[in-house]
Amino acid sequence: MWLVLVPLLLLPVSRLSGQNASQDSPDELLLCRSCGLEVAASRDLRFVASALALAQRNDTVIGERRVPVQLFQNPQGLRFQVLTFKRAAVHRHWPAEEQFSWFPGHSWAVATCPRCHSHLGWSFQPNVWPRHVTDEEFEESEETFVALIIDRLLQENFAATLLLVPKSYRS
Ligand SMILES: [Zn+2]
Repeated sequence: MWLVLVPLLLLPVSRLSGQNASQDSPDELLLCRSCGLEVAASRDLRFVASALALAQRNDTVIGERRVPVQLFQNPQGLRFQVLTFKRAAVHRHWPAEEQFSWFPGHSWAVATCPRCHSHLGWSFQPNVWPRHVTDEEFEESEETFVALIIDRLLQENFAATLLLVPKSYRS
């Protein structure tokens, strides 16, 4: 049994979740909870572990995937559960700030919904970068990511179920 299992465990993650990802786990869109704008997609989830997280759990399901959620606290004592993404369609408020970063080595900038301006999370970029960069520079880099607050998002499929017409209204 172990001889069968071990080779499977050694497969690189890319082999398991790479080319066939779209068939294995359909992409799920994440919407701004305030206005419904599409701000992120499950294919862009990228876990960035932080030693400064107060806790980490794996029990949030996005689409059909279980994804790690990290809990952080800001200097004012407010706590946020966040998911990290390679990219997200948010408005970034530069200049980036180095102090109180939850991801050492990275500066942060507040990220808001481009449509309703709700605070959705923060973008992170290397702190050796200039404090102002362009959206293109941010998005093309492999060293940048976005942390979105989980309870400010809504899953598209969940939103769709809210719009289903109750059976009693169908003729
Ligand atoms: Zn919005």
